[in-house]
Order: sequence, then structure tokens, then C-alpha cells
Amino acid sequence: MSAKILNGKEVSERIKTELKDKVSELKKIGIFPGLAVVLVGNDPASRVYVNSKKRACEFIGIESFEYALPEETTEKQLLELVAELNADKKVNGILVQLPLPEQINEENIINTINPLKDVDAFHPFNVGRIMTGNPVFLPCTPAGVMELVHESGIDVKGKECVVAGRSNIVGKPQAMLLLAEHGTVTICHSRTVNLEEVCKRADILVAAVGKPEFIKGSMIKPGAVVIDVGINRINGKIVGDVEFASASEVASAITPVPGGVGPMTIAMLMKNTVKAAELYYSRA
Ligand code: NDP
Repeated sequence: MSAKILNGKEVSERIKTELKDKVSELKKIGIFPGLAVVLVGNDPASRVYVNSKKRACEFIGIESFEYALPEETTEKQLLELVAELNADKKVNGILVQLPLPEQINEENIINTINPLKDVDAFHPFNVGRIMTGNPVFLPCTPAGVMELVHESGIDVKGKECVVAGRSNIVGKPQAMLLLAEHGTVTICHSRTVNLEEVCKRADILVAAVGKPEFIKGSMIKPGAVVIDVGINRINGKIVGDVEFASASEVASAITPVPGGVGPMTIAMLMKNTVKAAELYYSRA
């Protein structure tokens, strides 16, 4: 079997073009979406992500405000900036690029962002809304994964879904979104016994372990939909958490890395920013 490639780049372009049209309509009625992107330090991967987010804003017509702070920024300084952005009417969405330098407690920062500007959906308010099935903002990477699952043509309802990874950013919210669509969901992690066996049950397998080519074709049920969230840099090359060559022989549909989930995450962030602007103006 040779799997259908779920082209995240193409799907994300479609979504961004729809958002561009929407934003030009919103501007006609006086709604001007704005996103503040805060980068602390010099992590090269974070710089790449921030630049992609800025480019996406430009394409769609969202105003982006960039704050590049030095590595030695204190937690107090960052908290003050977040408070300023919370109060700034031109800023509808606030994104603080993670990871942060070690002197800054990430949780304290996330908890200070106004939940209605929390376009990453990391604030406990938004996490709670996702848990109760009534989200304000969908978490970007998991929501991007769901778009690609839909693209595969599979109906999640009643399907065995396995999420490998239980981080707050990907694994856990991913499980909630699959559950919301009536999947039967199993979450795996580093203490899971017989991971291979569990993965092999999956009709839909989402890999988010952060280990290059960890999921092999032998761990995949024939015909499964395989979504690879992983981004691992090996000698300058980017590879996913799935061994693409063996997995694409077994799966019915699979995402490539790069060009799969990565661009979808950015498209979903843009969608949340536009939604944040609409929410703001509907309350103003
Ligand atoms: P984390 O490191 O926070 O979480 C990794 C998870 O994988 C943990 O829950 C861990 O288990 C689990 N894990 C690690 N080793 C094993 C193992 N041997 N068997 C089973 N489970 C294991 O990573 P993230 O969730 O933040 O990210 C995952 C991957 O996705 C990374 O490659 C990251 O770069 C990528 N990513 C991609 C994005 C995109 O836009 N495409 C966005 C965000 C992340 P335990 O909890 O027990 O330690």
C-alpha cells in the first residue's frame, strides 16, 4: 500500500486564503486584527517559528507587533510586558514563544495572559473550556491535526485513536479534540507498557513524542491514518516522530515532515487571532 499524503502546506494555504478574505471584510466594518509575538532570547528554532508567524500575519492582513527581548530578561519584565499587551486595544492575540529562558517560570507568564487574548489556548481557562467541550480557542497544533484527519476522509466517530505523547501543548489537548469527535482515545507516554501493541490498535495514530523516526511501519495497523507532529532536527535535516518510509507502506494516509502539521499550526494560530478580534469587537 502507498499512503495518501496529507499535504499540510496546501491545506494551510487554503485556510490562510480564506482568512485573508475574511479579514478584508472585517476591516470594512472597522475590525483590524492584531497579534503580538514575544520572543525572549536567541533560540534559532524559535526565531524561525516567529518569522513564519509574522509572514502569515502579513499575508492575511493581520497587524503583527514583535517584541524581541534579550536572553537575560527577568520574569518581572516579561510579566510587565504581558500586562501592557493585555491592556492594548490594538492587540487581540498574545503569543509568547516557548520555551522561555530558565529564569522565567512559563506557567506564571501563561497564567497572566488575558484568556480572551490567549490565542495559543494554553491558559488554564482555555484548557478548562477545551476539557468541557466548549472551547473559546482551539489549541493550534491539535486543531491543525484534526483538519488533516478530516482531509484524509476518515470519520473519527467510533474509531480507535491513539495519541503517543501527553504534553500539555500537544498530547493532552489532542486527545480531547479526538474525544470531542467521538473517537475512542488512548493516550500513551514513556511509561506505557507494550507501546507497539497499543499503537497497532489505532485507526488514527497521532505521534507527538519528540523522538526522531520513533514510530515504525511495524507499529501501524494496515490502513491507519498517521499524523506526525514531531519536528526533530538531525544534522540540519528535519524529521518527524514517524519513520516515513516504512509507515507510508502501511498507512492509508500520512502527513509528511516538513509540510504536514507544522504549517497547519500556524494557520490555526491565525484563525484564533481573527476570532479573538471578532470576540473583542463583539464585546466592545
Ligand atoms: P514533550 O517533550 O513535551 O512531550 C513528549 C511526550 O512524549 C511526553 O508525554 C513523553 O512521555 C512522551 N514520550 C517520550 N518518550 C516516549 C517513549 N519512548 N514512548 C512513549 N512516549 C514517549 O513534547 P511536545 O508534546 O511539546 O512535542 C512533541 C513533538 O512535537 C516534538 O518533536 C515537537 O518538536 C513537536 N511539535 C510540533 C509542533 C508543530 O507545529 N508541528 C508543535 C509542537 C510540538 P512522558 O510524559 O512520560 O515523559
